[in-house]
Amino acid sequence: LIQLYAPLNFLGVLYREIRQSLTDIERMFGLMRTEREVADAPNASELAAGPMSLSFDAVGFAYDPRRPVLTDVSLTVPPGHTLAVVGHSGGGKSTLARLVFRFYDVSSGAIRINGTDIRQISQNSLRRAIGIVPQDTVLFNDSIYYNILYGRPDASHEEVIAAAQAAQLHDFISRLPDGYETKVGERGLKLSGGEKQRVAIARTLLKNPSILVFDEATSALDSRTEQAIQGQLEAAARGRTALIIAHRLSTVMNADEIVVLEQGRVIERGSHAALLSADGAYAAMWRLQLQEREED
Ligand code: ATP
Repeated sequence: LIQLYAPLNFLGVLYREIRQSLTDIERMFGLMRTEREVADAPNASELAAGPMSLSFDAVGFAYDPRRPVLTDVSLTVPPGHTLAVVGHSGGGKSTLARLVFRFYDVSSGAIRINGTDIRQISQNSLRRAIGIVPQDTVLFNDSIYYNILYGRPDASHEEVIAAAQAAQLHDFISRLPDGYETKVGERGLKLSGGEKQRVAIARTLLKNPSILVFDEATSALDSRTEQAIQGQLEAAARGRTALIIAHRLSTVMNADEIVVLEQGRVIERGSHAALLSADGAYAAMWRLQLQEREED
């Protein structure tokens, strides 16, 4: 029986590993199916590398035609600027990010990069130009190193380390017994939410996109972690055009422009100071967050 144990145990481990890889493969196929819903235009153009502007021009969108999610949304992010979108849950903020990456096409209006409708741009070139840091990053059940490298598979070892340093992840990784070779577990379950988001930031820095879309995690953070994340976000946004789905005061205050989205419509826009003095929806949200922070 003992002689049988080792091979059977090995088979068990192998089975679990294969099953986990299959989960990842299924996810990938799931993503690919989404991608196929939108197709390249016959004469789709390539985006030239360099600074890019991003604009939404009277965009309307519905997942289900009976229920509009975005109505007449117009916004412009000039090259190198940061625009923050705030608003109550369900207002359509994350949907903006999905539309920029063309997971779905708009129902009306257009999204443009450097003035070109993104439906006229090849998907490969569009996705090279944009880096998304989602709220909940999908990590592959592989090493931390591999998960960062995924941002640009031909990057050198030094570039991977530099990206991890910029995302303030390097010291954490260096303290792990297996360092960069640490396996993150299925969907990254062995990492905390903040650590996963930092892997996503490092991956995006390595990719070095002209446009950054950052969907800030909603989870409550202590003020030290909030400051750390703010630093990483600023590192990621530096020199890029950034669209940030924001939940925190610190993120919002530093943006060049803030847009308030309510039930899929832009109800206010302006700088932090201008919106505070307008004393509308943004000012009310701000007071509420300040109050919550004091209670903490
Ligand atoms: P939160 O701050 O809670 O993340 P949000 O402002 O980002 O919210 P979205 O995720 O953009 O909101 O969702 C906007 C609306 O679209 C919601 O009412 C949501 O239920 C709906 N929705 C989101 N994804 C889908 C989908 N795949 N199919 C159908 N409806 C969806």
